[in-house]
Amino acid sequence: MEILPPLKGQNIQSIFDNIDPLMEFKPPFIDVTYHREEYVYKEMGNGLLKKKVVRKRPGTVGICAAIQNKYKVDAIPHILCGGFTKEDTENFLIDLDFLGIDNVMALRGDAVKSESSFKPEKEGHCYANELVSQIYSLNKGKYLDKEMENHCKTNFCVGVAAYPEKHFESPNMESDIHFLKQKIKEGAEYIVTQMFFDNKKYFDFVEKCRAEGIIIPIIPGLKPIATNNQLSLLPKTFKVDLPEALIKQIVKTKNNAEVKQIGVEWCIQQSKELKAAKVPFIHYYSMGKSDNILKIVREVF
Ligand SMILES: Cc1cc2nc3c(=O)[nH]c(=O)nc-3n(C[C@H](O)[C@H](O)[C@H](O)COP(=O)(O)OP(=O)(O)OC[C@H]3O[C@@H](n4cnc5c(N)ncnc54)[C@H](O)[C@@H]3O)c2cc1C
Repeated sequence: MEILPPLKGQNIQSIFDNIDPLMEFKPPFIDVTYHREEYVYKEMGNGLLKKKVVRKRPGTVGICAAIQNKYKVDAIPHILCGGFTKEDTENFLIDLDFLGIDNVMALRGDAVKSESSFKPEKEGHCYANELVSQIYSLNKGKYLDKEMENHCKTNFCVGVAAYPEKHFESPNMESDIHFLKQKIKEGAEYIVTQMFFDNKKYFDFVEKCRAEGIIIPIIPGLKPIATNNQLSLLPKTFKVDLPEALIKQIVKTKNNAEVKQIGVEWCIQQSKELKAAKVPFIHYYSMGKSDNILKIVREVF
């Protein structure tokens, strides 16, 4: 299950309230997204704009530590290339290691909202495979400062992202799988997929990956659709397709309560089919709300 840190100013209780009811299903891990800074421009009243840096959802590491401490379940922080220099990454990993968090999801991150394409930090990583490589160097005891002596090895297990409908920047699926293999070559041990609403896309993707020699687990990611505006928001944000049959059901609804019910039923069907196909786990994108996830897992597990 993936959760988001609460908006800055909220407390952690909302996270616990959402996780509590799901613990009876013994999730093998809970991963927590990472949200880098955004730039907002404020009008100064004199025709000038002032650039302000804001982080709306800080707290990824603290939430992971709190989850591990409270529930004794593996908490997996997402870690990004974007906004991090290599030294920031190393220090972030040292904090995780000290906290006993030894599982991470290594991601590149997207472009910041005011920019058209992803730009790495000057001393940062351009792609997730480079980040995976840095994490595994630390596992071998190789820190950035080559002159350091008596250094400890870390023990991180690293997951990476993949896209059954292809990453939107990739020219084609073959190229995307080629670079996915690069992340595995650097040491990634499992894959979590972007959300998809048609299982055929996942099955086809897994088949292509296996044909390319990828043998690590490919964990399917599911998101129950919950509001009418997600019909346009999900394709825009996550670059995924929604099946016609799902859209037809949603456009007939009168309110979001009905949309949520359809989303739950659709996700139950997807989950049951995936479970029957013996996928390693099912990863639910909760986006901070667990009521619909609870209905799904009750029905499926
Ligand atoms: C499960 C999951 C969780 C996510 N969690 C977060 C989160 O917490 N925070 C957040 O900000 N974003 C998150 N994202 C979004 C993610 O950051 C974006 O999708 C981002 O655009 C790509 O990240 P990546 O790790 O897949 O990138 P990469 O694997 O680096 O790939 C990015 C693109 O570059 C290509 N590519 C890869 N390596 C190379 C190379 N060496 N040379 C040339 N081209 C290359 C790939 O084919 C792809 O098109 C998540 C996505 C998923 C699927």
